[in-house]
Amino acid sequence: MDKIILASNNEHKIKEFKEILNDCEIITMKDIGFRDEIIENGLTFYENSMIKAKTIMEFLKKKGIQASVMADDSGLCVDSLNGEPGVYSARYSGIHGDDEKNRQKLLKNLANKKDRTAHFICSIVELYPDGHSIHAEGRTSGSILHETKGSNGFGYDSLFYSNELKKTFGEATAEEKNSVSHRAKALEKIKILRTK
Ligand code: IMP
Repeated sequence: MDKIILASNNEHKIKEFKEILNDCEIITMKDIGFRDEIIENGLTFYENSMIKAKTIMEFLKKKGIQASVMADDSGLCVDSLNGEPGVYSARYSGIHGDDEKNRQKLLKNLANKKDRTAHFICSIVELYPDGHSIHAEGRTSGSILHETKGSNGFGYDSLFYSNELKKTFGEATAEEKNSVSHRAKALEKIKILRTK
């Protein structure tokens, strides 16, 4: 079984990765004792996923551990907000990880907008100890509701009405979300690239 170090501390994401990459052993940053904060100052989802992967790879090399690192960066892009919150999705309201305040800010900024179409994007890289990497991107389309619906998932899930599921990600089961999500689509592509 392939061992992959996953550059994430987000329990929801770790669960999604484990469910989709079910033929690999997923080891988390917590498992390897990495506790530092990674400054994600890239301008694109790809840049941020690479920053995370490289940071963890340096840590592994210092510890003498040979393994590949998988990192993702994702976010919500709203068309009428010129792609905002984009790479700032996690810290849209200024407080890192406060999902509730981020959702409120999104609703406020969309209050006078007719066009509420949006998509989630996920960039995933797998970086190998010899320095080469593979990369895939997935996206899923929908629109932002005027109020939250459902309490499953995390982040903007309860506001995001999925075109494919015909309900919000907050109302969807994990299996339903995994069948259409940006992360699932990027992961499926990575799964194929890994076999080449
Ligand atoms: P990341 O952890 O740096 O990739 O930041 C991603 C941020 O984008 C999260 O904190 C959420 O606010 C948002 N996001 C990304 N993927 C999802 C998703 O599947 N559902 C809801 N929000 C998401």
